[in-house]
Amino acid sequence: MDEIRLNGRSFRKYIDEHEIEKAVERLADTINRDLAGEDEVVFIGILNGSFLFAADLIRRINLNARISFLKLASYEGTSSSGAIRDLIGWNEVVQDKCVVVVEDIVDTGNTLELVVGGLQVRKARKIKVATLLFKPGAYKKSTIPDYVGFEIPNDFVVGYGLDYDGFGRNIPAIYTIVN
Ligand code: 5GP
Repeated sequence: MDEIRLNGRSFRKYIDEHEIEKAVERLADTINRDLAGEDEVVFIGILNGSFLFAADLIRRINLNARISFLKLASYEGTSSSGAIRDLIGWNEVVQDKCVVVVEDIVDTGNTLELVVGGLQVRKARKIKVATLLFKPGAYKKSTIPDYVGFEIPNDFVVGYGLDYDGFGRNIPAIYTIVN
């Protein structure tokens, strides 16, 4: 289907399943090559959005790998600064480890900064970032993700793990909003 509707909004097909598969394959090949010298690599997916990308990427990884997930929790704080965002699920020991963060999309970079900060505090030795989608136009930080599937414009996308109001994560292709 070239156009879909979710919760009253229209989205048109932007990246099809085949293009996604090719990009995931390319990223996995690069990661396998880059990190071939590591004894152990810890992959950390950021939930909810990364669950499909993480599953597809990790299947193609031939390194000695551990896989774990962190979840971004948003709640209203007591301060005037509004919503506080926190990461929960730090179960995996990352100290002195080589870590690959697996993100669905990097937009402003705030989430990534939180994840990378958490890994630095926990003394990860090497931190790499793989993201399926990257919006350079929205990005406000200085460190560019190491492995990027697609650079996309600053438009809202859904599908392949990404949601609109909770819907659309199950759609196998990526769709962009029709304004
Ligand atoms: P950042 O912290 O980089 O601004 O945004 C990261 C998070 O915002 C992503 O993990 C994702 O949940 C959400 N996000 C950013 N852009 C989009 C988008 O175009 N579509 C959807 N569905 N989520 C997005």
